[in-house]
Parts: sequence; structure tokens; C-alpha cells
Amino acid sequence: MRLKIINGTVITPYRYIRNGTVLVEDGVIIGIETRDVDFPNAEIIDAEGHYVAPGFIDLHIHGGGGHDFMDGSVESFLKIAETHAQYGTTAMVPTTLTAEKEDLLETLDFYEKANAANANGAQFLGMHLEGPYFALSQRGAQDPRYIRNPDPAEYEEVLAYSNSITRWSAAPELPGAIDFGKRLKQKGILAAVAHTDAIYEDVLEAYENGYTLATHLYSAMSGVTRRNAFRYAGTIESAFLLDMDVEIIADGVHLPAPLLKLIVKIKGPDRIALITDAMRAAGMPEGESMLGSLKNGLKVIVEDGVAKLPDRTSFAGSVSTADRLVRTMVNMADVSLLDAVRMATATPARIMGVHDRKGTLVEGKDADIVIFDADIRIQRTIIKGKTVYRNAIPQI
Ligand SMILES: [Zn+2]
Repeated sequence: MRLKIINGTVITPYRYIRNGTVLVEDGVIIGIETRDVDFPNAEIIDAEGHYVAPGFIDLHIHGGGGHDFMDGSVESFLKIAETHAQYGTTAMVPTTLTAEKEDLLETLDFYEKANAANANGAQFLGMHLEGPYFALSQRGAQDPRYIRNPDPAEYEEVLAYSNSITRWSAAPELPGAIDFGKRLKQKGILAAVAHTDAIYEDVLEAYENGYTLATHLYSAMSGVTRRNAFRYAGTIESAFLLDMDVEIIADGVHLPAPLLKLIVKIKGPDRIALITDAMRAAGMPEGESMLGSLKNGLKVIVEDGVAKLPDRTSFAGSVSTADRLVRTMVNMADVSLLDAVRMATATPARIMGVHDRKGTLVEGKDADIVIFDADIRIQRTIIKGKTVYRNAIPQI
């Protein structure tokens, strides 16, 4: 199985290679050339002058195409992976919502079956458990009935149950949260601070004990607070001050342009991962939808490119796709295309610990590749050398 991609502008994503050629064998990149080269017996893909970039890696995603990972079926996992592959995502970390332990364990079961059956969708990089150890005051759209403090008896059972957990988000100020972070670090699981009212002292201790990422920066987390006369730095300022990684919902709605620019200015493209945090309505027409599982979900309305509570007082989830994240960073945050692509590829790959095989177009990496036009509309998605999506609309 050999593949040669010609006639594109390759984004490595550390530089452009104009009129570059990508050589693939058995799903792995075996060469990036600055001109067309002889490569016998290969399928040839003409990029038609479009960009050829690493596939997008989404570290935080709940659903799409009408499905949620908590729906309780293998089919949901596969449909979400296939839907987002159409928008350039080649790898993702399926994310749960705060729920009862039994529902989490069941979702882990479905994950393993789906992972084995996933032939045409974005690859799964393990599960992200978002909760249930959160601050009630910062729950956002997480169901308050299931929010609780870290309990070793419970999380040890979950950790023993499955090897598929690669990421876990928790509020670090809760009793037991530091021990929980240490345990995750010991297991090689990425610990992230989320849905939290922590002040700097809490976040610093957490950072020193395994928490290295801030989950959807600015959403459901503390900023500067005052207690009597004295001011305290919150989670947001702590994430800026410490050498933490941050992920941002760059759908252009959750964070306005000045905040996107501020985050880029302070953290830079090597510390920022673009995430969709998408719910089931991503890739679907606007209108009524359901946040969370079909069984326990919350009715929401999708309009203006975002999900809202029916009374429109609050956002209730993102409906973004990965191409839109990159577009937003270029168009709203004035970031270069190279940097925007980096935040959707190389940086999330490094944060997730898969940079040895994903996130850049260099020799030896998996052939996870997207071809997109000047407006970042996806023309083709290739996963491990196999085309899983092609835009059927002829180019004008
Ligand atoms: Zn989420």
C-alpha cells in the first residue's frame, strides 16, 4: 500500500513546503519531499494546490452527528468518529460527562468495543473522564446530582476496571484531589484542572502533583476573586503563570477575539490545544437537540453556531468541528495558519503523549493527513494512509 500526495502546500506544521510531495507506505509517512519524486506502484493523490497538513487531534469531545459518547452504544462512538473525520479530525479523546459510576464503567466497555471496530473514523486516543469530581459552584452544564469529591474507593475501582482512561479532569481544591492527581500521574494518565474554584495556592500544589493541563480555559473556572479586602489569583491566572498547557474551545463563540488573542500572547502555540468540546449537534442542522446522554440529557436549542439553554441565558455546549477551530484562530485571533494548525496538531499530540507517532508530517509518523483549501474547508481526510472522507462538491 503506497501513496503519493503531490501538488500541495505541505504544512509540517513548522514550515510550508510549496509544491511538496508526501510519500506513504503501509500507513506511515516515509518521506516529505520538496519536489515530485519517482515512487513506483503508488496511488497518486493530486492536492490541486490545496494545503496538506497533519490531521487534527481533538483532546476534548462529547459527540457529533446526532450522537453522544454516553448514549450507550458502539454505534454512537463510530458515528461521532466518522462525522468529525469529515471535518479533518483524525484522532480524538472521547469524553464523558459527570455521571454515576455504573454509567462511566459501561461507557468504558463501549469504548473498547468501538475502538476495535473503528475502521473509517477518527482514531481514539483513550477516554477522557470529565468529572465527577468537580466544584458544584462551577458545574456549568454538568449534572449536579452526580458531582462529588474524589473517593479512592471509587476511582481505584474505575482505574482497575479499564486501561483505556488516558485523561481525567477534576477540581484540584476538593478534599482528596491532590492524592487523586498523584495517583493519575503514577498511572501515566493526564490530569487536568476543570470546573473549579481553585485559587493560585491550590493550582500550584496541583501542578506540582500531576495536574499539567487546564480544561477549556476560561469556561467553568475561577478568575480573580476578592475575600474581604484581599485579592486572590484564580485558576485562569494560575494557568497563565505556571508552565501549564491549556485547551480552548475556539469555536469563535465561547471565547471572544480579545481573549483568544490574550491566550495566544501569554501561552503561545506550543502550550495551546484547540478543542471542539462538541456535543451531539456538531455536524447537524441547527434546532432542538439534547445535551448529554439520551437517557439523562438536557433539552437545548442550537442557534448562532452554539448550543444554548432553552431560555437562552447560557451556552450549553459547543457544536464546533475542528476545521472551524483553525478558521477561528486565523480569522478572529489573527494567528498565522502555521500556528493555528500547530495548535490543532503538534501541540495536542505532545500534550497527549502521542507525538512520537502523530501531530506532524515527518518521516516515520502515522499518515494522518488532511487536505484543505484556503478557507480551511476539508477536501480529503486520510487516516493511516486510508482516505476516509472526500469532499464530493466540485471545486469552482
Ligand atoms: Zn466537555
